[in-house]
Amino acid sequence: METPTDCLNCGVCCFSKSATYIRVSGDDWSRLGDDAERVARFAGQNAYMRMRSGHCLALQVTTKRGQLPLFFCEIYSTRPQICRDLKRGSPQCEGELETKAHRVADHCRR
Ligand code: SF4
Ligand code: SF4
Repeated sequence: METPTDCLNCGVCCFSKSATYIRVSGDDWSRLGDDAERVARFAGQNAYMRMRSGHCLALQVTTKRGQLPLFFCEIYSTRPQICRDLKRGSPQCEGELETKAHRVADHCRR
């Protein structure tokens, strides 16, 4: 799959079936500030972004008939480091697209 020119039209790397997909470090938790308890949670010793409907809770998905879906991270400026490190067009991004793009397409058709 070709890399999208804008992550707002993709959102694939924010999807996962795992409840412990996005690790939230101590620094991440501090950066999240007042949002931390709402968007993240502890599982044992470690914290993770909360997941809902197969994607990170912070991902807002907007679908309108006849338009491309929009994927918006509501905490973009304070998102965890692991999200900051995943660059569009990188091998990790390509891997995400390869394995999960079909799942996101299905999600948006529902
Ligand atoms: S980084 Fe890659 S997989 Fe993630 S939203 Fe952007 S284009 Fe999609
Ligand atoms: S914090 Fe934002 S960028 Fe990271 S997985 Fe969640 S929605 Fe995606």
